[in-house]
Amino acid sequence: MLKTYKYRLYPDGSQREKIKKTADACRFIYNWALETGSTAYKRDKTSLSAYDLHALLPELKKEHPWLATPYSQSLQQSVRRQYKALQNFFRRVKRGEERPGYPKFRSKRHHRQSFDIPQGIKIEFEKRNVYLPKIGLVRTVFHRRFEGAIKNCTVIVTNTGKHFICIVVEDGRVPPKKKRVNQKKSIGIDVGLKTYATISNGEKIENPRFLEISLKRVKCLHRRLSKKKRGSKNREKARIRYGKCREKISDQRRDFQQKLTTRLIRENQAIMVESLNVSGMVKNRRLSKAISDAAWSSFLNMLRYKSELYGVSLIEVGMFEPTSKLCHVCGFKNDGIKLKDREWPCPQCKTKHDRDTNAALNIKMIGFKTHHASREQRKGPVDQSTLVDGMKQEAHH
Ligand SMILES: [Zn+2]
Repeated sequence: MLKTYKYRLYPDGSQREKIKKTADACRFIYNWALETGSTAYKRDKTSLSAYDLHALLPELKKEHPWLATPYSQSLQQSVRRQYKALQNFFRRVKRGEERPGYPKFRSKRHHRQSFDIPQGIKIEFEKRNVYLPKIGLVRTVFHRRFEGAIKNCTVIVTNTGKHFICIVVEDGRVPPKKKRVNQKKSIGIDVGLKTYATISNGEKIENPRFLEISLKRVKCLHRRLSKKKRGSKNREKARIRYGKCREKISDQRRDFQQKLTTRLIRENQAIMVESLNVSGMVKNRRLSKAISDAAWSSFLNMLRYKSELYGVSLIEVGMFEPTSKLCHVCGFKNDGIKLKDREWPCPQCKTKHDRDTNAALNIKMIGFKTHHASREQRKGPVDQSTLVDGMKQEAHH
């Protein structure tokens, strides 16, 4: 099984410089590959392979001599990453996703810069070092050790000046067999803005209080930052303060999500969630929305890898039906309910619904249908719209 370990790095001055240069070069290459690929696609409707792009690299290095210094494997990996991003885009188009989300250029203003080191690193647990090719021995804090073959490494630099390394390790173990999916030990989860998550059994999980306080603070810092003059020292200071606060929020949130996902995975044999349409949320002007979207995807990712680890089935259902409008008892679709309606009675069967719990129950029900349908007909993909129709009809009888 693949596992990822993240450690804090403490590079010295010259190493910081080298890391920054590598990250800059990789970002440059990534954007160049995106540009080159897009141009080729627009011109003659062909997509360049990663191999084609690799072949262009030496020429590019001649043109930009500064690209010769960083580790060439990292640069090549950048090309591969870009190529993969483009392939994923094509797949989303093929699947007919509403907003497939064309890969974006990487910005140097992004809060974290990163590059891959596909091979050549050496770990020294005893000496508390990681050897990075072309950068050297970097002091590292290992809060835990690992065993297995290193598959990939990513070096991350945050805009608050912290360095990390993520190491993907194959530990050679087989993932546990999936437990049986049954009604009793399964839950549906509805994630919302107001309540963090609502479970189909009626449980409500609120955002922790400390997180709410941090969110207020980050909004305030963001306002202050936007008022400072571009390029001024004060703006730089405000930017760091804002970045640190964002970082604190994401740390707090990660901690909260780790505990929550571990509990949910341990208590259940199957978990149904709405799959996230990441590409659909490309750019959000509203800060709070952007933060909650990011939180959503990390929550889902945790559920994904923990379900593999514990042999739990994670069933993702597409966001194709307004799960909050459908009565889970009789299948009646109530178009009249608004976002502010936290409770509503079903006009048809008269059941009183809590909006979020009802949505979670619908997600659970659709998850079951998806699971059984895909087990019965492994041949083709499940058409989820027919599932909902089926569900409604069944409920009517
Ligand atoms: Zn009803």
